[in-house]
Amino acid sequence: MSTRLLRAALAIGLCLLQIAAPAAAQEDLDFEIERADQLSRTAPWQESQRVIDRLLERLEQAEPDQRAKILILYARNLAIAGDEAGGLEVLKELHEQTGSELSAERRLRALNLAANIAVNMEDFEQTFGFLGQGLSLHSEVDDPGLRSETFSLAAFFHSQAGEIPLALDYSWRAVASAREAGDVSNECAALQRLALSQQAAEQDQAQAETLVEALTVCEQAGFRVVLATVKLGLGDLARRTGDLEQAGEQIEAGLAVMEEAGFHTGILSARRDLGFLRQDQGRIDEAERLYLDLVDPFVELGYWMDLAELHRRLAGIAVDRGELARAIEHYDARIYARERHLNAERSRRLTYLQAEFDAHRREQEIALLEERNQVMMLEREARARQTLLYVFGTVALAAIGLLLLVLLLRTRAERRKFRRLAETDGLTGLNNHSRFFDLARAAITEAHQSGQNAVLVYADIDHFKRFNDEHGHDLGDEVLRRVGSRLRERFGSSAVVGRIGGEEFAVLLPGRNLEQAVAEIDGFRRRIDEVRSADRKLKVTLSFGMAQLQPGDRLSVLRQRVDRALYQAKTSGRDQLVLASPTGT
Ligand code: GH3
Ligand code: MG
Ligand code: MG
Repeated sequence: MSTRLLRAALAIGLCLLQIAAPAAAQEDLDFEIERADQLSRTAPWQESQRVIDRLLERLEQAEPDQRAKILILYARNLAIAGDEAGGLEVLKELHEQTGSELSAERRLRALNLAANIAVNMEDFEQTFGFLGQGLSLHSEVDDPGLRSETFSLAAFFHSQAGEIPLALDYSWRAVASAREAGDVSNECAALQRLALSQQAAEQDQAQAETLVEALTVCEQAGFRVVLATVKLGLGDLARRTGDLEQAGEQIEAGLAVMEEAGFHTGILSARRDLGFLRQDQGRIDEAERLYLDLVDPFVELGYWMDLAELHRRLAGIAVDRGELARAIEHYDARIYARERHLNAERSRRLTYLQAEFDAHRREQEIALLEERNQVMMLEREARARQTLLYVFGTVALAAIGLLLLVLLLRTRAERRKFRRLAETDGLTGLNNHSRFFDLARAAITEAHQSGQNAVLVYADIDHFKRFNDEHGHDLGDEVLRRVGSRLRERFGSSAVVGRIGGEEFAVLLPGRNLEQAVAEIDGFRRRIDEVRSADRKLKVTLSFGMAQLQPGDRLSVLRQRVDRALYQAKTSGRDQLVLASPTGT
């Protein structure tokens, strides 16, 4: 071939390539997304994450819908890996950037996931918002399976908030939608949810029927762990009605599956049920051993209600044996666990009420404003005719205006009260986890906009579990209160301060660089040292992790760096401050 021909062929080839390349790239992207989706359903999250990491690098070339699919998978993995806030962050960004370009199905999928993450974080205000948006999309969504997921989540959310009738109602809707979709996996999940709602509503007979049905459906779906949960439910019902043989079969079968699957919390629930059964069978020593082994894991998981029940039973056993000192220990532990349970329940209830209150208030305001508009129209007509209606119109307008004002003032005051209660941590009065990160996110956005510095610090009390064991929880609580008030004294209004975990605090310092932040934290540490030598009660040290905001950093990225720095402070001997390198290595 002559060189001219060759060049011409090359040019044509290049043109064709240019036309074909984007389409081929899109197809290839679809293929990879599909692969990630498959893996996310069938393999441990790390495997799908490998594919997702590569997809994230190609996000620029993705269409809005492809982009949404990738980010939803990514958010799901973040949440599974324990970075729930990071997952939510991704979904919120997705919603803000491309929400309006996406199909209702895709948006509902993202909202369902967001609600799922938020409810697991017990962030009810956000859950309420996501569920509300999700439910309002239902009329545009054809897939009943997706609708069933929203209903199941709404059921779970309302049962957590103690709204049992609503939880039941949503559970039934979830079952109906799953049946409409003809999807056994969804139906299995929905039936299990329904059984739990019925248990909370103490509808034993209906619960038994649901569980029997779930047995067949979940078997078809091949959900072994859910099936095991169903068996445990049936076992517990049988035990309570005195059919100990039947109870034994179901509970042992359930436990075996949980152990085989290595499903930690499932194993613990099964052992608790087995303990109850052994006690009913009069095999007291076995029951006691099961209960005692469950105490630590339940404390760790914060299963306070279960823990209170264990201690109640252990105290009863001790009384029967005449071991009164031990019985008292268990009664004390029971009171403590119950208190924790009630506190958690109260704060859940409060957040729920506040969210609901907000929604109602908005409805009421809108209704009143509509009425006001109508009266204004009437008044306009009236004025034209100069009739009696004019007077009526003015009076009615004034009355409704006044009513609106009164309502607004009252609701505003009440709302402020709810808000304060729901946003602060009861023990220290600092911002709680979700409030802290909301404020931090806003501060970071502002820092990016104004080109200012900002530094995030985590502080975690060292060996606090040991402190509690040695000095008791009351003194532990006192320490937490004091650390909280020292932080407030030191940083006050110049920073955002919060208690973001049991014994973990966070400070966001806007407008500071690393050097300034280090100096301020050193000041705080000196203050703690002084107090420690003056008052032996506060004999604690803290470990600190710190990172500076880099241009373009999202909150989740900054958090990861601080987390790592704190981890390093812990592993290199505690009682020290570790700075994260800007690249996060
Ligand atoms: P490390 O130095 O590695 O941080 O050890 P640690 O014991 O402080 O950390 P770990 O996370 O193992 O335990 C945290 C403990 O904090 C467990 C729990 O007993 C205690 N704790 C959490 N919340 C509260 C609370 O509200 N009051 C009291 N008194 N203790 C709490
Ligand atoms: Mg600690
Ligand atoms: Mg900790």
